[in-house]
Amino acid sequence: MNSGLSDLVRNGLDLSIRDDKLREECGVFGIFFSDPKKDAAPLVYYGLFSLQHRGQESAGIAAAHENTIECRKGMGLVGEVFTHETISSLKGPAAIGHVRYSTSGGSCLENAQPFVSHFKLGSIAVAHNGTLTNADVVRELLEDAGVGFTSSSDSEVIINLIAKNYKKGLEKALTDTIKFIKGSYALTVLTKDAMVGARDPNGIRPLCLGKLGSGDSGTGWILASESCAIDAVGGKFIRDIEPGEVVVITKDDLLSFTFSEKTRRAICSFEYVYFARPDSLMDSVDVYGARIRAGEILGRESTVSADLVVGVPDSGIPAAIGYGRATGTPYGLGIVKSKYVGRTFISPDQDMREKAVSVKHNVIGSEVRGKRVVIIDDSIVRGTTSRRLVSILKAAGAKEVHMRICSPPVRFPCYFGIDTPHRKDLISNMNSVNELCASLGADSLAFISVEGLLESIDPQSMRGENSGYCLGCFTGEYPIPVAGEGQ
Ligand code: SF4
Repeated sequence: MNSGLSDLVRNGLDLSIRDDKLREECGVFGIFFSDPKKDAAPLVYYGLFSLQHRGQESAGIAAAHENTIECRKGMGLVGEVFTHETISSLKGPAAIGHVRYSTSGGSCLENAQPFVSHFKLGSIAVAHNGTLTNADVVRELLEDAGVGFTSSSDSEVIINLIAKNYKKGLEKALTDTIKFIKGSYALTVLTKDAMVGARDPNGIRPLCLGKLGSGDSGTGWILASESCAIDAVGGKFIRDIEPGEVVVITKDDLLSFTFSEKTRRAICSFEYVYFARPDSLMDSVDVYGARIRAGEILGRESTVSADLVVGVPDSGIPAAIGYGRATGTPYGLGIVKSKYVGRTFISPDQDMREKAVSVKHNVIGSEVRGKRVVIIDDSIVRGTTSRRLVSILKAAGAKEVHMRICSPPVRFPCYFGIDTPHRKDLISNMNSVNELCASLGADSLAFISVEGLLESIDPQSMRGENSGYCLGCFTGEYPIPVAGEGQ
C-alpha cells in the first residue's frame, strides 16, 4: 500500500466525499430524573449515541450534582470520548449532552459543548443546536460589559447572557436571553435543580419532549433533538417543543411558556430529506414516510422507462422504494455503502480524493448489468459523489443511468445551523439541470419540485409562504432576515 493510500485508510474519510453533503450541526439530549438518587449521565450517553448522525466531531455531557455542575467532553465520536470511568464519574439526577459538527467556530475542544459557567449565584450548562445570526453583535456587547469568552462558538454567547441575567431568576434570565438572540436554536439548559428546553420562534431546528415511566430506569423527563433518541433510552415520546416555547422541568413540575410573539413556523425541510434518522417522528411527521412519499412524487413528476430503481444509501433507499411503488419499476439493492469510512478530514491530492470516493460506494454488478437504471439520491451539493455513482454504474454494465433527486436543487447557503459550501461550490447554483446532467454523465436528471417536497413532508400542508417549512437553501427566501441576502 503506498503511503498516501495508507494515510487515507488510517485517517478515514476524504474531504471531497464528506463535503458532498450538507451537514447537520448538532444534536442535544437531556434527562431529568425525579428521584434525586438516580444518575442521569449513563442514559444521556445512550441518547447521544442515537444522535451521532447529527455531529461527529465532539461530544460532551454535563451533570448537575448537589450544588455544582460537572462536565466531560472531548473530540471524537461518543464511543471514543466516554469510557465507563468518565460516565461513572458524572453523578446527579439531571444531565444534558451534545454531539457537534462545527459550522460556527472551529473544530476544537474549546468549542465542544455543553458549555458550563460557574458564577457567584450558581452553575449553569448549555447545549445548543443551531446558529445565531446576531452572535457577533451580542458578543461585542458582552465583551464591552467585561464578559470574557473562552471559545469562538456562538453558543457561548447564550450561556454568558443567561449568566449575566441570572440574578433576576432563571425564568426571567431565560426570557431576557432568548428575546435578545436571533437565529435558529434548540437549547437544553441545566441548573442545579432544573432542566430547560427552548426552541427558536420559527422552530427551525427540532426539539422534542419524552417521558421515562416507572420501572428500572425510574421516572423522569427527556429532551431530545429527535424522537429516535427517546426510543433508545426506553422513553415515551410526548410531543414536540413548539416554536417559541420554553419548558422548565423541576422535580415537582413541568412548566411551559411561550416567549415570543407569534411568528411564522419555518421548520427545516432538509431534516426530512436527509438529516434526521428515518425512525424519528419530527413535528408530527414520520421521517421514513416523508422519504417514501418523496420517491412516489418523483415517480409522478419525472417518470422514465427503466428496468430497475436503486437508492443511494442511506436516505435514498426509502425514496427508491417509493419511486418503485409509484411507477411499477422493480426496486433492487444496486449500490452498497461502506459503513466503516471514518470521520477525520484529510486533504489528499486529487488522485487520493478519487480513491476515497471509491471507498465509500460500490455497485452490485450482477444487479445492474444490461439494465436501464434509475438511481435516487437525497441531494446534489458539489456533484462529486453523483458523478462517481453514474460512472461506476456504467462501468458495471448499466445500459442507461437516470438520476432522480429527492430535494430541489440546492442553490443557496444555509444560515441556520447547517454547513453549506460557498455558493460558487454549489453545483446547482452554477449550472442548469441540463448542464448538470451532462457534467454527471447521466442519461437524464430530475429533481423533485419545491411543491413536491412540501407535499412529501406534509400532504395536507399549505404551500409557499405559509407552508410552515424553511426552504431557504432551495429558494433563497429565508424565514429570518440574513445580512447580505435580499428578503
Ligand atoms: S436553509 Fe435549508 S438546510 Fe437551512 S434550515 Fe432552511 S431548509 Fe434547512
